[in-house]
Amino acid sequence: DRRVRRAVETRCGPTLRQTFLLDAFHPFQAEAIAHGLEGEDVLVVAPTGSGKSLCFQLLALQDHVHLGKVTVVLSPLRALIKDQQRHLEEKGIDAIALLTNQPPEQLFAAETLPPLVFVTPEKVQKCPAVKELIVSWYEAGLLARLVFDEAHCASTQRFRDDAFAESWRLHVELPNVPIMALTGSATPQIIDDIRYHLSPRIPQLIRISQNRPNVALTVLRKHTNETAAIGDLVGLLQMASFAGKCGIIFRTRRSACEKLARKLRAKGLSVIHYHAGMDEVERDEAQEMWIAFGMGINKTNVRWVIHFDFPKSVVNLDQEAGRAGRDGGPAQCIIYYNFGDLKHLLEIAQRDNQDTTLALQDALAVVRFCEDKSTCRRVLLLQHLGERYLREDCQNTCSTCVNADKRVEENVTQAATDARALLLSLTQEGRDVTVQHFLQIFLGRKTACTSKNGHREKELFGAGGDMSPDVAELVVAELLRRDVFRQVRKGYATSKWKHWYLELGDEAKAELDGFKVCYHRSQRLPQARACSGQK
Ligand code: ADP
Ligand code: ZN
Repeated sequence: DRRVRRAVETRCGPTLRQTFLLDAFHPFQAEAIAHGLEGEDVLVVAPTGSGKSLCFQLLALQDHVHLGKVTVVLSPLRALIKDQQRHLEEKGIDAIALLTNQPPEQLFAAETLPPLVFVTPEKVQKCPAVKELIVSWYEAGLLARLVFDEAHCASTQRFRDDAFAESWRLHVELPNVPIMALTGSATPQIIDDIRYHLSPRIPQLIRISQNRPNVALTVLRKHTNETAAIGDLVGLLQMASFAGKCGIIFRTRRSACEKLARKLRAKGLSVIHYHAGMDEVERDEAQEMWIAFGMGINKTNVRWVIHFDFPKSVVNLDQEAGRAGRDGGPAQCIIYYNFGDLKHLLEIAQRDNQDTTLALQDALAVVRFCEDKSTCRRVLLLQHLGERYLREDCQNTCSTCVNADKRVEENVTQAATDARALLLSLTQEGRDVTVQHFLQIFLGRKTACTSKNGHREKELFGAGGDMSPDVAELVVAELLRRDVFRQVRKGYATSKWKHWYLELGDEAKAELDGFKVCYHRSQRLPQARACSGQK
C-alpha cells in the first residue's frame, strides 16, 4: 500500500503540485490513480467535493504529456461541464466541451489533441460526428481513457435511459480503453446499476465514507401554509449561521422556485433562481450572477443548503447536501419536511412520464428518513447509503442528537384509533378527502368545507381537537408510514384535476395498541465543526 502510494507520488506528485497547486494526494486518490496508471478499470465512490475529479484529470494530463492521448469524459450535466472547464482553464489545462452544434472537428487544431474532452450522453447518442470523432481517436490509438462522471445519473435519471445506454456502450465498442466511473452517491442499488452498465468489465471499487462531519443535518417541519412556511424560512435565514453567507435552496417545482426567489427578494435578500426550464441565455446569466456572488456550481464556500420541498429521494438529498461545506468548514443542511408535499413530487414524476412506483418508493424512503425522530440523522442517512455508522460519532451534529433531551414521545393510541374510524366512516359514505381536508374534520375546524359537506354532524368530528395541529399531522403521517392509511390519486369526469385522496391501507385492520408519535418541543440547530483531512 505504501509502496503504491510512493510510486504514484513519484510519477504524479510534481504535476499535483505544479499544475493543481495541491500538497498531497488523499489516500483514495492515490489508490485510484495507481490502478489507472496500470490501465485498470476503476469505480470511485466518494462524496461530492471530496476530490474525485482530480483522479481522472491527473491521469489525463499524464497520458497527454507522455503519449499525446486524449481522455473523453461523459458528463450528464452541462452546467457541471462548463464549471469544470473553467476550473481547468484557471490551471492552464486545455479542455474542450462538445456542447454546441458546431461541427466537432472544427474545435480541434489539426495536430494537437487537448488532454480532456467533455461530452454529454445526448451528444454521443444524437450527433454521429461526435461519436465518429471518438472512434477515430480510438482507431488512431489516441484515446487514453473513457470517464463516466456522475455515474449514478444513469440510475436516477431514467428519462434519459436511451442516451445513457448509448454512451455507456462505448466501452464495449472500444475495448481495451481503460475506464473510470465516478459517483458521489453510493446506495447498494446504484453501485449495482453502475456495475451492470460496465459489465462485462469488473472495475476496481474504491470507496470512502459518505459522511460529511462538517455539515450539520437538521430536519424541520414545514408549515402546511406556504406563507407561514416562507416566514419560518426568512427567520432561519436571519440566524447567524445563515445571514450574509452563501447558500442554496432547492425546490422541486420550477414555478415554486421562481416564486420563492421573488418573495425572498421582496424581503431584501439577494437571491437568484435557476432551473432547467430556463432558456440557455437566462441560465448563463444566472450562472454569471452566481459567480459574481463569489460562487460557482462547484465552489467550496457554500455554507448552507436548504431543501424547502420534499427531496425526491434520499440520494438526491445527500447529493444536494453535498454542495455545502466543500472547503471542510462548518456548514448546515436543513430539510423542511411536510408530507403534504409528497403529492407534488408524485405529480412531477407522472408529468415527466417516470415510473411512479419507483418514484413513490424513493419518496417513501425520504418519509422514513424524516419521520424517524429518534434515530441519529447520520445513522439513518448512511444506512440508506449502505454504510454502518455509530451514533457516538455524530457528536451532536444532527438535529436528533442535539435535541435528544427535548424529545417528547406521546402515546396517541386513542387518537390513532379515532382517526382510523373517522376515515372508515368517510369512505363508507363515499366521501373522498385529501390529507388537509381530513385534518380539518379530525381537528374539528369550522371551515366552509366542513360545514358544506355536513361533516360537523359526525360523531367523530373534532375527535382530535385536543391535539395541536402539528401532532395531529404527525399521527396521520405515522398512519401513512405504517400503511394504515394510504394516498391514492383520483380524478373525476367532471373535473380536469386529479388529487391525492386518503384511503385505508393494507394494515388498517392491524391493532394500534401503544401507538406513539415522537416530536421535539422546540428545535435547536446543531452546529457542525470544521474538519480537516480527508474531507
Ligand atoms: P468531486 O469531483 O469529488 O465532487 P472535486 O474534484 O470538484 O470534487 O474537488 C473538490 C475540491 O477539493 C476542489 O476544490 C479541489 O481543489 C479540492 N481537492 C481535491 N483534491 C485535493 C487534495 N488532494 N488536497 C486538497 N484539496 C483537494
Ligand atoms: Zn446524530
